[in-house]
Amino acid sequence: MPITLTNSYAELPGHFFSLQSAAQMPKPSMVRLNTDLAVSLGLNPADLFADTGIEMLAGNHHPKGSTPLSMAYAGHQFGNFSPQLGDGRAVLLGEILTPSGARFDLHLKGAGRTVFSRGGDGKAVLSAVLREYLVSEAMAALGVPTTRALAAVTTGETIMRDGPEPGAVLARVASSHIRVGTFQFFYARQDVAALRALMDYTIARHYPAAADADSPPLALLFAVMQKQADLIAHWMQVGFIHGVMNTDNASIAGETIDYGPCAFLDTYHPATVFSSIDRQGRYAFANQPGIAHWNLAQFAQSLLPLIDAVPETAAEQAQAVLDGFGDLYKAAWLGRAGAKIGLTVAQSADQVLVDDLLALTAEAEADFTLTFHNLTLAVQTGDFADFNAPFEGSEAINAWRDRWQARLEGEDSAQSLAAMQAANPVYIARNHRVEAALKAANEGDLEPFETLLKVLQNPFRARPETAEYENPPRPDEIVHATFCGT
Ligand code: AMP
Ligand code: MG
Repeated sequence: MPITLTNSYAELPGHFFSLQSAAQMPKPSMVRLNTDLAVSLGLNPADLFADTGIEMLAGNHHPKGSTPLSMAYAGHQFGNFSPQLGDGRAVLLGEILTPSGARFDLHLKGAGRTVFSRGGDGKAVLSAVLREYLVSEAMAALGVPTTRALAAVTTGETIMRDGPEPGAVLARVASSHIRVGTFQFFYARQDVAALRALMDYTIARHYPAAADADSPPLALLFAVMQKQADLIAHWMQVGFIHGVMNTDNASIAGETIDYGPCAFLDTYHPATVFSSIDRQGRYAFANQPGIAHWNLAQFAQSLLPLIDAVPETAAEQAQAVLDGFGDLYKAAWLGRAGAKIGLTVAQSADQVLVDDLLALTAEAEADFTLTFHNLTLAVQTGDFADFNAPFEGSEAINAWRDRWQARLEGEDSAQSLAAMQAANPVYIARNHRVEAALKAANEGDLEPFETLLKVLQNPFRARPETAEYENPPRPDEIVHATFCGT
């Protein structure tokens, strides 16, 4: 059955987007199809592997029901407001309605120039496409809400970046591509009718319960805040640094979106920054919750005209909701952090127990993922040698273990171990592995990419045959910066 799309976003007013066909690519070729994802969306992988499927994934063929468009949005980039960004290298091909009735955007990144391209070429290169493929699929396997990679195709073009690179398109699936910056686009223009239409659309698509609230815009703000608080708490528990938490990269549906210079921590330090474009460390690991709160404040501001006609009243009410972020985040963080040390129900008094372990981990310059994985193994086997090693038998870590073991006495040991095993991954997308896989792919060898992807798709269960993927980089393998690679 041929693929059929729909596009509810195209029914919004015309200035929400620009109708935009994807560029014709000379020679599309499939690099990787996410067959599991395709099946879960109700698509037949054979249709996607067929010539018309590959042509569709590269943007050359628009399937039945598709109304391709580029979305308009604005955004704060590193704190500075740009009233006009938009999809400069992406086309929303349409929406997939799954057999169970869920709606997902099918978005082609690297689909050519659009009215929003400004000086850019609208293209994407293979290494950036595969980076997003790897890291977003790793996040999905870790259980973190995220956009998904449906396919990576090369286009047959050569794109100039630092040097010549193969051109590629990422076919991305998301709950939607509505961003904080989408609301900001209309707020900046004081286009209240458009804001209302966008709010109504967003509520109907993502937060239907908000429609019946006393104040739908405040209910929407709260719902988005809850999603973001939980998302960032999840990032913090897997050691993920997004790298570019601009408001145009903040999804209203609460998914991780726009993987650029992102990375997972190896050595734990709260101030870690990888992104080569983040010179001030605005988006450092430990800043992420505060930045999410700041981004939500921009969202709240965009909703003000819908909250109350009297600006002071609107601002007061929005602020009252925003002030709840700290508590929401703390609760989300503590639930997940508690599980990492075996607490099935963490109490607020447990916060300091986790904080102290993190402080000791930072001081010892120990690996974030291995610290918790080794603690899990120690609980399982009773042997603490690997856990202790980075701490070199310090009195502080022994004192911490005594306090922690005393706290664990109230826990059912099987449940406690199960909580740790479900919260502490063995395999993360370590930077040195990602870089090596992308380098090989650029040279035509996809095997390291495929092997790494397979490891990352099953991150919680250690397998002896892939034990080397558990390891942090050797000193000569450390990657100090990651690049946008657009
Ligand atoms: P990003 O860094 O991917 O979040 O993109 C920020 C903004 O720059 C968005 O409006 C993108 O559409 C735009 N952009 C990024 N790369 C390109 C490119 N190669 N050509 C045109 N626009 C781009
Ligand atoms: Mg972006």
